[in-house]
This record gives sequence, structure tokens and C-alpha cells, in this order.
Amino acid sequence: MKGVVVFLGPPGVGKGTQAGLLREKLDAIHISTGALLRSEIESGSELGLSVKGVMAKGDLVSDDQLFGCLENTLDRDRQLSEKLVILDGVPRTRSQVSRLDEVLSRRGLKVALAISLVAPVEKLVARFAHRWSCQSCGSVFSFETAPDSGSKCEKCGAQGAFYRRDDDGEKAVRYRFSVYHEETAPLLDVYRERELLQEVDGLAEAGAVFEQIRAKIVKCFDF
Ligand code: ADP
Repeated sequence: MKGVVVFLGPPGVGKGTQAGLLREKLDAIHISTGALLRSEIESGSELGLSVKGVMAKGDLVSDDQLFGCLENTLDRDRQLSEKLVILDGVPRTRSQVSRLDEVLSRRGLKVALAISLVAPVEKLVARFAHRWSCQSCGSVFSFETAPDSGSKCEKCGAQGAFYRRDDDGEKAVRYRFSVYHEETAPLLDVYRERELLQEVDGLAEAGAVFEQIRAKIVKCFDF
């Protein structure tokens, strides 16, 4: 068993980018709860319809909706106990910490490391104005001007697939930061008390952030 790593940090700090790099370079399983919920919306499922408005506003979906979706995903993955599993987006509240522990323990897993990506809010808010995602592979990019229909994704080659997330507008971004401060930031202490917390500077260049994270993972797990 390799074990489970949770990624903590404010919106826009690069959790998705770093988890994507770990998937690519360490063959990790990357589970992004935000991406799971966005694909429910995309598919037009009942869950997707019921969370669309909540997410667009920047609020949290209910624990039952979240864990229903997460548990389905965990149960579909046959390599869960053999690989490094990166949880990106959960837990986000104190109640989710204990529920996540139960959900993992029922599957013979537990959180072995919590990586906190650290950056000042003012630096992050500005990132959202230029943030575009690829509909096809989920990679996130920063473009000064809007990409046109001929623009290609440098990761997967998809053309004209860039979009801006519904919750990346200024109002929703500010609300997401307030939710982060009230609900999620206190979890840093929870994992610090468990002696599982490792902090990484989230403002450094993506490759350098990745090397710091890789070093902490190598130290914690048997790689
Ligand atoms: P970010 O970290 O940039 O805010 P995410 O993609 O992780 O973005 O999450 C987007 C949205 O998905 C959240 O604002 C929330 O509405 C929903 N969501 C994701 N994870 C959770 C969770 N653990 N609990 C409740 N809602 C969640």
C-alpha cells in the first residue's frame, strides 16, 4: 500500500496543477472533488443539477452529496490500495475530516500525509482573472487575453476547448476565499496536531513546488 495524501490550501494556489504532476510523474491517482462535481454538472445528472447553483456561487455542497460522489469514485478504482492517492478538495470542513477517516478506513486506507500549499490571498485573487481550463483534459492555464477557437491545449492538444469556470468570477472567488478561511483553514491545525502536516511554498514556480512536494512524499512513503 502506498497511502493517501490530502492537499490543503486556498483556492487558486495550484492544488490541481500539482496533483496532476504527481499523477503524471509518480503514477498517482488524483481525485479532485471539484472536478468530480463539475463532471456531474456536465453530464446533467440529478446530483449535477442540484449542486450547480451552489457551486457557481462558491459555496460548499452538502457532505452527503460530496461523499456519495467520492465513495462511488473510490469504489470504481481497482488500484486504490496499490498506488499513491492524492485527495484534492477534501476534506474542507471539520465534519469532513472525520467522515473522510471513516470512508478511508472502511477501505483499509488512511491519510498518511497532508500537504499544505501556502500563499497570501492577495496574490491568489489576481490569478483568477486570467484562469482558463481545458474542457478536454482539465489542465489549468493563465492567459492574459482570451484564447480563440483555434487555440490548442499544450497538454492534450484539444482545440478550442478552453473555458472559464462558473465560479471564477470576482464575486464567487471572494466568497470561496471567505469559505476557505472559515471552514478549511482550521483543518491545518487538525493535521498539524496529528503530525501529518507539511507546508510548501505555493508561490514558487510550478516545477519548484513540485520538487518540494515530491521530496516530502518520498520521505513519507516507500518510493
Ligand atoms: P477551488 O479549490 O479552486 O475552490 P475546487 O475545484 O476544489 O476549487 O472546488 C470547486 C467547488 O466544488 C467548491 O467551491 C464547492 O462548491 C465544491 N466542492 C469541492 N470539494 C468540496 C467539498 N469537499 N465539500 C463541499 N463542496 C466541495
